[in-house]
Amino acid sequence: VINLEVPRKLKPFIERARMVAEHVLRPIARKYDTLEHTYPKELDLLAAMIDGANRGGAAPSASSLTKAAKDDGPAGSRNGASMTAALSTFEAARGDIGLVLTLPRQGLGNAALAAVGTPEQKKEFGDRWIAMAITEPGAGSDSAAIRTTARLDGDEWVISGEKIFVTCGERASAVVVWATLDPAAGRAAIKAFLVPKGTPGMKVVRLDHKLGIRASDTATLAFEECRVPKANILGSPAIETQKSFAGVMKTFDNTRPLVGAMAVGLANAALERAHAILREAGPIGEHQALELERLEAEVEAARLLVLKAAWMADNGKPNSLEASMCKAKAARVANEVTLACSALVGPRGYAEVELLEKWARDSKILDIFEGTQQIQLLVVARGLLGKTSAELR
Ligand SMILES: Cc1cc2nc3c(=O)[nH]c(=O)nc-3n(C[C@H](O)[C@H](O)[C@H](O)COP(=O)(O)OP(=O)(O)OC[C@H]3O[C@@H](n4cnc5c(N)ncnc54)[C@H](O)[C@@H]3O)c2cc1C
Repeated sequence: VINLEVPRKLKPFIERARMVAEHVLRPIARKYDTLEHTYPKELDLLAAMIDGANRGGAAPSASSLTKAAKDDGPAGSRNGASMTAALSTFEAARGDIGLVLTLPRQGLGNAALAAVGTPEQKKEFGDRWIAMAITEPGAGSDSAAIRTTARLDGDEWVISGEKIFVTCGERASAVVVWATLDPAAGRAAIKAFLVPKGTPGMKVVRLDHKLGIRASDTATLAFEECRVPKANILGSPAIETQKSFAGVMKTFDNTRPLVGAMAVGLANAALERAHAILREAGPIGEHQALELERLEAEVEAARLLVLKAAWMADNGKPNSLEASMCKAKAARVANEVTLACSALVGPRGYAEVELLEKWARDSKILDIFEGTQQIQLLVVARGLLGKTSAELR
């Protein structure tokens, strides 16, 4: 049973994330939007604080994006890593989602390692910052179409191919690379490999200029006969129909709710700022008040869907459908709310004097990466109709 009260033991995590958003992230948000591709060095201090808190076993970390709170709720209702991360992300995202996406050691590859890594892999790579490279020039939504290959040569995997739009692709110290063992064998042959940065044959080709989240680096990576130890495969090397692909895909059941949480936090930031600007200008007009109320209801609906998906993850319930549902809803709401707020307050909402215009740009990515709006709806439809990905595509 979901208890919608915020668990007492998670409150310090939320408070810490709120402080970080307000005092660290928000004040430098515009600076790193302008200084695209410059590493936000202020985050090093934050990362050191997170590491220190985690090593010392001190209560909450600053961001808590991947660490669990040891907080069991009433019998049959556990609040663990997913709920902690969702509640912290609601707050952190109010500071700046581009900066949240580039917090050291909080990459998508870290989530993959946590979901399917062996104890040995976790020991070796647990302290690294790990990106995840799936997308290729010819394969985005249809990740089963990737053409990067991996072949076993003695005790090493040899990886060749090109990956595009890799978040933290330059800054991370390792990358989880998706490659196929046999392009003719479809999704069952797709595996993920841990590739440390600096491995010969791996190259950062370029960084991309973007519409939003400019504080986050997005890289094109090339792999030419790049060799990693045999032990660096995530999951089993066997080509088992459906199963192996589904293994790494499980990562998204944990991370899509966090993208939803970023969307909720961002939308709330925009709503709060719009409220404040309108209040400063005088009594809020009736049509503006009605619009703000409508948007607030949408954000609340998205927030509840995120909490449900996170709660299911913590309680061992399959949540692929709910993870996609909350991401689809929350991202669409964030797109609508940030754009609406930049207009509701008048022309100043479209100018660089306010972060509202930046938030409108930033929000678009939430409806694209980790599966677009349309792909999330496909996953939801498959779940509701009991169809496989081959039957409904
Ligand atoms: C800033 C940024 C960061 C990113 N970070 C990463 C990362 O870290 N790692 C990574 O691997 N990738 C990353 N990506 C890539 C991202 O995941 C893909 O862009 C996304 O999955 C969509 O793929 P695509 O761009 O090739 O679009 P396409 O798959 O070509 O889709 C184009 C359009 O067609 C729609 N569409 C596609 N298939 C269907 C279908 N079956 N039914 C209905 N509509 C469909 C899509 O929804 C979309 O609107 C990032 C992208 C960006 C922009």
